[in-house]
Amino acid sequence: MSAQGSSIPRVTPCAQRVTREGEALIRTDFGEFRFLGYRDAGGLEHLAVLQGDVRGEAVLCRVHSECLTGEVFHSRRCECGAQLDLALQRIAACGRGVLVYLRQEGRGIGLLNKIRAYALQDQGADTVEANLALGFAGDLRSYGVAAEILRDLGVASVSLLSNNPDKARGLQTAGIAVQQRLPHVAGVHAENAAYLRTKRSRMGHDYPEGALGGGGDPPLGADEGVDEGSGEGSEEG
Ligand SMILES: [Zn+2]
Repeated sequence: MSAQGSSIPRVTPCAQRVTREGEALIRTDFGEFRFLGYRDAGGLEHLAVLQGDVRGEAVLCRVHSECLTGEVFHSRRCECGAQLDLALQRIAACGRGVLVYLRQEGRGIGLLNKIRAYALQDQGADTVEANLALGFAGDLRSYGVAAEILRDLGVASVSLLSNNPDKARGLQTAGIAVQQRLPHVAGVHAENAAYLRTKRSRMGHDYPEGALGGGGDPPLGADEGVDEGSGEGSEEG
């Protein structure tokens, strides 16, 4: 139990809520990454996908929540697939960074409830109202698991690829310092612009003027307080 005390980067103190259960190199369209498997206390499986030595400060980091419809089926209701691809591209270009892939589909409500929520949205609800109508909070995601994974990897602080200030705050609260939040824009088009505007107006995501206005969509309201770069957020991320 104690003999491995000097081996490598399990920086996590005691009460560890995730366990690392596997590692492999995988070549992708965006380069070769180390894939580390994690299991959380509830039994859910997550991934850390990384390049380079991620121990230390200011590690380029994307915390991305699973979106099967967006990433596998290229749903145009959101931009998650494009954001996932862009994150891997940015990490590969940097040569050092980590993507934490969390299995919290549908902003935490699960795949089937997400489908139900889409049906409600087709009847006029926005994404927050739909989740509330199904009995869920607007956003059930938790970033504690991501923080545990980052700690296990020895990440001390991150440069976070995200348009979502809540995500940065969540990581900070969970003990991972966020040195900066970098806008992460991909996959904006006419069909998801209304959804992205909802994220901006009701969930506090940062989007620049003009970023969501393509394809004949009305301009963004001036009351929504954008103060930073190019943001489109992902539904789950
Ligand atoms: Zn999505």
